[in-house]
Amino acid sequence: MAKINNVSYVETKTKWKIQIEDLLVTGRNKDNNLKLNRDSNLNVCQFLGCTATFLRTRRSGLCDGHKKHEHDLYLTLFNSNNKPVTSPRHDDIINHLITWAKSRNFDLLPFFKDCSFTILGNIPDVSTLSGDIVHKNFTPKSLDDYFDICVECVDRHFPEDNNSSYQYITIRRENFHARVLALTFVGLLLCEEANRGDRWFWREIAQDESKTNYLGAAMPLAYFAAMNFPWGMEIGKAAPKFIPSGM
Ligand SMILES: [Zn+2]
Ligand SMILES: [Zn+2]
Repeated sequence: MAKINNVSYVETKTKWKIQIEDLLVTGRNKDNNLKLNRDSNLNVCQFLGCTATFLRTRRSGLCDGHKKHEHDLYLTLFNSNNKPVTSPRHDDIINHLITWAKSRNFDLLPFFKDCSFTILGNIPDVSTLSGDIVHKNFTPKSLDDYFDICVECVDRHFPEDNNSSYQYITIRRENFHARVLALTFVGLLLCEEANRGDRWFWREIAQDESKTNYLGAAMPLAYFAAMNFPWGMEIGKAAPKFIPSGM
């Protein structure tokens, strides 16, 4: 059960840092939703080194002791003085980005579409990232490399050379630069996708993305879609009800 290597990304201009750390089994570990025995021909647990057996009808391919991931990615933000700052939740980030964007006529939709296109389905689950589960003909990249995909997405919409990327957005009396918030958001998407998603597995390994059964990082994007829809009325205090339970 090797720990997944940390991501430690320092934003060049603000010196704020986004850290993503593997809390191993001390985190809020989620179920491993992969269907490693989808063809029902295995009767041995697919967790590296485990020899527990079960009926071939068990589609997960995992024994009772390995039903949950033994890893949990957790994001922490640090300000320019390297002091930890409580990271806003995705819905908080989305609400504030929407308000900020409206006052500037900035179209957020392209950023969120890009997140969906470049991040969803491209981040393996934590058991795969850590090597607990090994797939034939696949070697996971380092978490840094996966985070790079997310940073590139932010670079396209909140570029370093545009001053508005560095405007302040205040959340719970803390001032965040828009770009830092966007980086935090994509970092959270990466964590969601790795901690509880199964889209990468169905796309990359099983080659049938239509069988994806868990939203993973699609949850926060669904929240944005609901909040961004031109309802023609005020959603008001009902907005949190768009957040699926468990997020
Ligand atoms: Zn096992
Ligand atoms: Zn969440």
